[in-house]
Amino acid sequence: MPHVLVLNASYEPLGVVPLRRALVLVLENKAMCLEESGAYMHSATCTVPAPSVVRLKRFVRVPYRGPVPLTRRALFARDGGRCMYCGGVATSVDHVIPKSRGGQHAWENVVASCRRCNHVKADRHLVEIGWRLRHKPAPPTGLAWRIIGTGHRDPRWLPYLQPFGADEALARIEGISA
Ligand SMILES: [Zn+2]
Repeated sequence: MPHVLVLNASYEPLGVVPLRRALVLVLENKAMCLEESGAYMHSATCTVPAPSVVRLKRFVRVPYRGPVPLTRRALFARDGGRCMYCGGVATSVDHVIPKSRGGQHAWENVVASCRRCNHVKADRHLVEIGWRLRHKPAPPTGLAWRIIGTGHRDPRWLPYLQPFGADEALARIEGISA
């Protein structure tokens, strides 16, 4: 099922919902469709264009959002799908300071890695093998990341995500698909 980007009345991206849920928001007059996907939804009585981006009609106060959740998908997006040691295609998650040696499972200590580097590095510190990271790992920032971390994507969303850090995210997405 396709997903739909939901914006607050202020145009701040709130999240991604399944198409059916977005359609209910529109039909209940709680949201307006800003972009159509080009597809149509058929019910017994009517046919409506499927939305791709909707905007809530009333502003919703969003409680403080903690750091972007550390998921495999979000991590691969942050690192452009590339191994942070050799630049090859990443297939695994590596703890820079190995967990067995007290390393945390946190944005600052995890990187995307290829299987070979992960295997060669094993449970050693970088200084022990003379390796360096291509970038210093840090938690992603910007609301666009919360959307990208879901793994759902639609080119129609981009203009709405650009003010929220999507350009950096985009460059990384292109890194993945390249
Ligand atoms: Zn590698």
